[in-house]
Amino acid sequence: MQLDEFLDFLTSNDIPFKTTHGSIVLNNCPHCNSSKEKVWLYKDRRNESGPFFGSCMKCSEKVNSRSYLIGLGYPKSMVDALHGPAADNWQLSVAAIDILGDQTVSKVLVEDKEVVEPDISMFLPLDAVKSSDAAKYAIKRGWTENQAESVLIDYYGNAVVFIVRHEGQVVGYQRRFVTPFNPKMKVMSSQDFQKRRFVLEFPNDGDICVTEGPFTALSAWHFGYHAICTFGSNVGEKQIDRMAQLAETHNKKVAVGFDLDSAGKKGYSRIRAAMNFRKIESYRVRPEYGNDLNDSWIAGRGIIVLTPKDEDNTMPMLDLPFEAFI
Ligand SMILES: [Zn+2]
Repeated sequence: MQLDEFLDFLTSNDIPFKTTHGSIVLNNCPHCNSSKEKVWLYKDRRNESGPFFGSCMKCSEKVNSRSYLIGLGYPKSMVDALHGPAADNWQLSVAAIDILGDQTVSKVLVEDKEVVEPDISMFLPLDAVKSSDAAKYAIKRGWTENQAESVLIDYYGNAVVFIVRHEGQVVGYQRRFVTPFNPKMKVMSSQDFQKRRFVLEFPNDGDICVTEGPFTALSAWHFGYHAICTFGSNVGEKQIDRMAQLAETHNKKVAVGFDLDSAGKKGYSRIRAAMNFRKIESYRVRPEYGNDLNDSWIAGRGIIVLTPKDEDNTMPMLDLPFEAFI
């Protein structure tokens, strides 16, 4: 991959970067998640068509342009297409770069683990225990008959249970305790639940709305969105594939309702980059009231679409000529 191809790609996908003498500086390290400008990539001058190599100045993990883009959520096939056939030979040439020394090992992506279907037989339909605290809590936070299959009650654990299915099979669940023993343990997932791989969905007619938590998704559904919960802002490739598939099939846009903190912003940037790549429109939404969409829904308030002007996702490029790389 040539320098201008890589920079074109970053620019057209709204991925912030800076160029300095001989390097491209990026944020969002795929290893330590540092959102600062810590990832420095260099060009191997002996292999002009190969990927860019470097490391993270914070966690010292090796990063290259392939692992970086895959970490942002771009599908491997597209990253390979961008890099071209020369990408296969990159390990042969990397040893030639002084700055990297003998760091020739690329990180092997972990394959998806086999899914063990969890037992959900101990959980009850909400209608069966409607007077329980957990059922009342679920209703207060937005449960309706439409969610009868995907939201159950753990009566003895006093928890609302969100059931995650994939192609009809239960692949995991997450419990939200109404009165947690430990305030830091409000939620608990089923054993081995691969929460960066699967999503919880509440289908509806509007755009896709991606949220970090299940109740936020439920509120997005009330606001008319086809809600997708990704169980956190650190979205995985399969989750991104799912939102893109829905958006493409139904000709919808992707709204991101993540928290308004740095992790939420990073998650939004990742989704936006991946959607831009697929030419799917995306935007960010925030609650009109409170900290998340559920606060706003409970308060009878709405949802606000953020415009690019509200966002400050850009990192200014240093005004250096590209010759600085050569
Ligand atoms: Zn790092």
